[in-house]
Amino acid sequence: MGSDFVGTPSEVRVGRLSATCPSCGQSSLFLRAKRRRQRKADSLLCAGCGAEHFYTALLEQVTRRTISDAQSALERARARRKKI
Ligand SMILES: [Zn+2]
Repeated sequence: MGSDFVGTPSEVRVGRLSATCPSCGQSSLFLRAKRRRQRKADSLLCAGCGAEHFYTALLEQVTRRTISDAQSALERARARRKKI
């Protein structure tokens, strides 16, 4: 770790959920990649395993989880209604 990283690790967060590294599935902290010259300004490095991911891809992951969370909450609500 060192010159490829810049700033402090941060979460990619949407609402209450934050993205988890797709590579290790453990870390939710990411560092911004320093290489500005490449068109990878939005790429983030996992603070846990060092894998590189696009910010947009991580954002998409959280969004998808938010949607499936909302759907399962809806299903739970429906199931509860049936019991009554
Ligand atoms: Zn990782």
